[in-house]
Amino acid sequence: MAVDPVAPYDSENIFAKILRGEIPANTVYEDDHALAFHDINPQADVHILVIPRGAYVSWDDFSANASADEIAGFVRAVGHVARDKGLVVRGYRLLSNIGRNGGQEVPHLHVHLFGGGPLGPMLA
Ligand code: IMP
Repeated sequence: MAVDPVAPYDSENIFAKILRGEIPANTVYEDDHALAFHDINPQADVHILVIPRGAYVSWDDFSANASADEIAGFVRAVGHVARDKGLVVRGYRLLSNIGRNGGQEVPHLHVHLFGGGPLGPMLA
């Protein structure tokens, strides 16, 4: 079910459970601001999700309400993961779905990081 971007944060969403360690994830990176793990249903050779530790529904919520420290830490974490996974030399794609029209399914901000091979035109 697609996310309502203006709904209050649901602390029972699956990524909140991953952050609390209640369900497992294939983690590739974590720090004070962010957690990164492999997508369970990869759409590219490399498909990693990066999420902030804070409780933000979407990029919209995050960009409006997160602190400057949280925003800087999250953006740096996304870049770090891309470099650490060797995606930078040949390039990669970042994507964040927002709300119903964006097709967002999980109501905790996440950035998709796609790479590992040619990606073709923008994903539908
Ligand atoms: P969205 O459509 O941008 O919200 O993308 C949600 C993504 O989360 C999809 O690519 C799913 O495959 C992925 N996903 C859902 N549950 C899990 C999980 O438990 N572990 C890792 N990825 C997940």
